[in-house]
Amino acid sequence: MTKEQVQEWITEPARQTPVRYEYDVVVAGGGTAGVCAAIASARLGAETILVERYAFCGGNATLYLPLLGFLDQQGNEVIKGIGKEIVDRVIELGGCVGHGRDPLHVSYAPIDPEIYKRVVIEMLEEAGVHVLLHSLVVGARTDGGRVTHLLIENKSGRSAVAGKWFIDATGDGDLAVFAGAPWEKGNAHGKMQPATLMFRMGGVDLKETRLAIAAQPERYGSDLMPPEHFVKNSSFIVVGMRQALEDAKREGRFSLHNNRVIFITQPREGEVAVNMTRVLMDATDADDLSRAEMQSRKDVWEVERFLREYIPGFQNAYVIDTAHRLGIRETRRIMGEYVLTADDIMQSRRFEDCIAVASYPIDLHDPSGPDCTLQHPQDTYDIPYRCLIVREMKNLLVVGRCISATHEALAAVRVMPTGMALGHAGGAAAAIAEKRGLGDVREVDVAELRNTLLAQGARL
Ligand SMILES: Cc1cc2nc3c(=O)[nH]c(=O)nc-3n(C[C@H](O)[C@H](O)[C@H](O)COP(=O)(O)OP(=O)(O)OC[C@H]3O[C@@H](n4cnc5c(N)ncnc54)[C@H](O)[C@@H]3O)c2cc1C
Repeated sequence: MTKEQVQEWITEPARQTPVRYEYDVVVAGGGTAGVCAAIASARLGAETILVERYAFCGGNATLYLPLLGFLDQQGNEVIKGIGKEIVDRVIELGGCVGHGRDPLHVSYAPIDPEIYKRVVIEMLEEAGVHVLLHSLVVGARTDGGRVTHLLIENKSGRSAVAGKWFIDATGDGDLAVFAGAPWEKGNAHGKMQPATLMFRMGGVDLKETRLAIAAQPERYGSDLMPPEHFVKNSSFIVVGMRQALEDAKREGRFSLHNNRVIFITQPREGEVAVNMTRVLMDATDADDLSRAEMQSRKDVWEVERFLREYIPGFQNAYVIDTAHRLGIRETRRIMGEYVLTADDIMQSRRFEDCIAVASYPIDLHDPSGPDCTLQHPQDTYDIPYRCLIVREMKNLLVVGRCISATHEALAAVRVMPTGMALGHAGGAAAAIAEKRGLGDVREVDVAELRNTLLAQGARL
């Protein structure tokens, strides 16, 4: 029986928790941003541990998603440094065909999840990071505005990780929240962007699909994309095919609250990743998350049937696999010394303490309706170091999806390439704080941080 409102509490006996690890820099979450943070920190000489709850590192970059906005509006790489090193290695190993340009997403690069997992493990090992898998961060011990320990639980039981500098790369801001940092969630009505369970399909005759898009763009066309794009390119993203979906809805063959077909070709011939289930919920609520995950795992099969029946080339397609978990677009945003806004992005604002540059538009999947709106800035925009510095905390930085931004600005900076650059910057800042013997991440000399990032190949 689930209790709607908790009215009964138990008191657990006080216990001694062993401090099993002690590191200069402790990174919570080994996803898109956390991996880059840990590599950057370790390369700069800080003893670094990365704590990840799953059996592998890579986070959302293993959900069959394409890297969006890796290039800028002119087609030059906007993400360089460690993020670029990872992607270049994935390309070398055949896990990515490279970056395509696309007016909707600026640029796209589908990546093979297994090759990504392999590359990040190799690079973490080469950098000398201690990677602790299968370990869930469940709490933090603090003292006078400093995090002193992470509390983790795993097969060895409960233990503590002592550290001098902490980086929250959990996407949900778990560590910052456990430490008592201020945070916000959702839009003005508290609503968050929907989540999607990604899945892959094989056996797609993509030549037939491409010819159908070119021949009948009013039915199968993709938003903002000229039909010729699909004649020339075998690697592409489809966001549209609205007429086909409308027909299926009218004929009672598609009931999900979604009015666009979205799929992405994969590095291997005849395979696509489908981004079409859609569920509203709060992913920091375990019951809500379970309900949404169960629902989405059923919805995959309705999407599969729709694609087979209504989209040319999918007649013989089949589900290869579903992602290891529901993809979460939005949860908590940790409040930092600066809160990035939509205006900063749309005005391509420059900041003196810029530590990452991004090109991706504000891509807001509507929490109330079935659609999605994109607002494109004319140029790249800066992300200041202050968005990583958590208010009221001296030794804690946030990187990736949980940085300090408004609901709208998050919809732009949440993409994976930007997360890589943010992770790189956060890891370098923590290592500099350690090297210089500082007492607060605010004391990091921004000029030194920027020079360090530039020396490690980043674009600022
Ligand atoms: C459906 C969907 C489609 C998207 N499409 C695209 C796209 O096409 N292109 C693109 O570039 N971006 C896309 N994004 C956005 C992008 O994938 C994410 O916003 C980005 O990867 C977030 O990076 P991150 O490092 O902050 O989080 P993640 O990559 O999610 O990493 C967080 C890591 O922390 C771990 N973790 C979390 N909590 C704990 C804990 N308590 N203890 C230990 N470990 C923990 C997780 O297991 C994970 O490994 C999409 C997102 C979704 C959900």
